[in-house]
Amino acid sequence: MKLLSIIIPCYNEEENIRCFYDEFMKNRAFLQENDLDYELYYIDDGSADGTVSQVRALRTEDPKVHLISFSRNFGKEAAIYAGLSAAKGDYVAVMDADLQDPPSLLPEMYGYLQQGYDQAATRRVTRKGEPPIRSFFARCFYRLINHYSKTEIVDGARDFRLMSRPVVDAILSVSEYNRFSKGIFSWVGFKTKWLEFENIERAHGETKWSFWGLFLYALDGIVAFSTAPLSIAAVTGLVFCILAFVMILFVFVRALIFGDPTQGWPSLVCIILLVSGVQLLCIGVVGQYLAKTYLEVKKRPLYIIKEEE
Ligand code: UDP
Ligand code: MG
Repeated sequence: MKLLSIIIPCYNEEENIRCFYDEFMKNRAFLQENDLDYELYYIDDGSADGTVSQVRALRTEDPKVHLISFSRNFGKEAAIYAGLSAAKGDYVAVMDADLQDPPSLLPEMYGYLQQGYDQAATRRVTRKGEPPIRSFFARCFYRLINHYSKTEIVDGARDFRLMSRPVVDAILSVSEYNRFSKGIFSWVGFKTKWLEFENIERAHGETKWSFWGLFLYALDGIVAFSTAPLSIAAVTGLVFCILAFVMILFVFVRALIFGDPTQGWPSLVCIILLVSGVQLLCIGVVGQYLAKTYLEVKKRPLYIIKEEE
């Protein structure tokens, strides 16, 4: 009998814990048909509400439900890693607690794995119910990162995917601190089947993402999967050097021909402002990479587990 593990990162999802379980159970027919056993790993990412007690209550009814509780909020990426480490399944799925990742897709995803795919991933094809400005920035982000990064980041890809054991082990071997899962899932390669579905609104509660949070996450993604900003900074520096050289020649020749009337200090101020601005920007870009390197070399654990059952 093969084992299917489901990993559910939860941050303040008390109303969704049972809903998710019930929905998963409604779709469990395919487990029996395929002679599959299951285990559910709820990863409590430092929730402040009743998430932990809800999972405990479930666990008394079904011992196949497991709980891993973090000592504080470490973020969804850490929760996914903790779940993947704990899962013993031959197949492992990552799913949101809020039912935005419908368990009804699991049989189809499992079918593709049987056909020889290593993982079945999902992407939403609509951004219905999302503020238009957010969709606009999301699209810009995907265009930008796919232009500058060798790793393909699929537009609208969700973390919801079903993986076979080799894929899980490959992802676990990527133990970097700055985890951008969308990139890591793609970076490890393997034969991936993409399933598309319409965006589904959250069952209960609210999204944990603010606009600013998403913006910073996007920057993290770019820094984690591309070094193009560093090259752009270097090229900008080069362009300004060439420009400066041409201007020096021009000023020198002009002074030789027309003498040296003291003129043009407003333009000088503008140039100084512009160039020092570009300098600071480029130092900032380098700083971003340095900061990530700093966090990486500290080798802090990705998460701290408070309790596990
Ligand atoms: N989540 C988490 N830690 C966090 C934020 C979110 O484990 O710090 C979980 C959350 O409980 C949910 C999933 O990650 O199960 C997706 O979060 P959310 O629904 O807020 O994101 P969205 O679906 O809007 O992208
Ligand atoms: Mg959600």
